[in-house]
Amino acid sequence: MKKTTVADRIFNFSAGPAVLPVPVLEEARDQLLNYQNSGMSVMEMSHRSKAFDQILASAEAGVRKHMNIPDNYAVLFLQGGASLQFSMVPINLFIKDKPIDVIHTGVWTKMAMAEIKKIAPMRLAGTGEQENFRRLPRPDEIKLGKDASYVYIASNNTIYGTQWKKFPETGDVPLVADMSSDILSRQVDVKKFGLIFAGAQKNLGPSGVTLVVIRKDLAERADKNLPTMFQFRTHIESGSRYNTPPTFGIYILSLVMDWITKEGGISAIEKRNALKAKLLYDYIDQSGFYRCPIEKSDRSLMNVIVRIGEGNEALEKEFDQEAEKSGLSGLKGHRSAGGLRASIYNAQPLEGVQALIDFMKEFARRKG
Ligand SMILES: *Cc1c(COP(=O)(O)O)cnc(C)c1O
Repeated sequence: MKKTTVADRIFNFSAGPAVLPVPVLEEARDQLLNYQNSGMSVMEMSHRSKAFDQILASAEAGVRKHMNIPDNYAVLFLQGGASLQFSMVPINLFIKDKPIDVIHTGVWTKMAMAEIKKIAPMRLAGTGEQENFRRLPRPDEIKLGKDASYVYIASNNTIYGTQWKKFPETGDVPLVADMSSDILSRQVDVKKFGLIFAGAQKNLGPSGVTLVVIRKDLAERADKNLPTMFQFRTHIESGSRYNTPPTFGIYILSLVMDWITKEGGISAIEKRNALKAKLLYDYIDQSGFYRCPIEKSDRSLMNVIVRIGEGNEALEKEFDQEAEKSGLSGLKGHRSAGGLRASIYNAQPLEGVQALIDFMKEFARRKG
């Protein structure tokens, strides 16, 4: 079997699982057979070993540092994906007779609403559905109740390509956000949120780990008779080790946190993300061949939606297939939205975006 190298890699625009930083993959490779003189891989060691104690502590410290998380919040590494949080959050945070307010902005809030409705009374506090989710509801289109258990949003809509730039003001009502696809892509004031969750496979590491950042008092809302694994307090009390956590995923996540530090922290990451998105959107807007249907002020810096003409599906399919052959992978839009989508998460290098724009120019020249 031939050993693989960095030279074998392509530019990966997949929405998730997504591209990871090359230095992270290289470090994991170099430590795979013998992690720090333990004589074994992280995959093979006890989750209660000294070596893993350090990995878990380093992952938590990294998340705390980069998100600037206050001490009254817990940082948890759970399983079940972002999708388990669609149920776990209402199970724990719903207060009897206090409805849950949801601002509906796409496929992922729809999935979350389906679960919320099984557990609690739900109010649609705002929706972008009439506009096909091409923009977020404006402040005057959002109606929040002071009596809500909490307000629920998705900070970045991975499939439709919108992103909250300024979060809704919820006063004393906790704001809960699914940040799966833009966590750690920009500075966020954690104090404004009661709970943040994110599947790791977009900006944090491999799939199999879910990050939950929860204000600790909110975990006390849950009935102690709920199944043990469903309660946030179980995982807070046990430091994410009530049972075996996804050890290797947490290890990679800790390396990604170190990588962010080396890159200059979140402020540097945020700047680079803004630059990558600007280059791509600016090109699309002036191309006369491609089009981004999303309202400019709401455009996601992580997932860029691209259409050709008025939605020429045959040409879009051709684009995706030819791009793949040119070493640009994962550009097909989500099956429910169609078109093309370039996911340009933290680990997508500037060179990847430049290569994409070069390919787009060349394709437009041939087909335009
Ligand atoms: C990817 C994604 C999810 C689904 O995550 P799973 O870990 O597969 O459950 C949920 N919400 C958003 C915003 C996502 O981007």
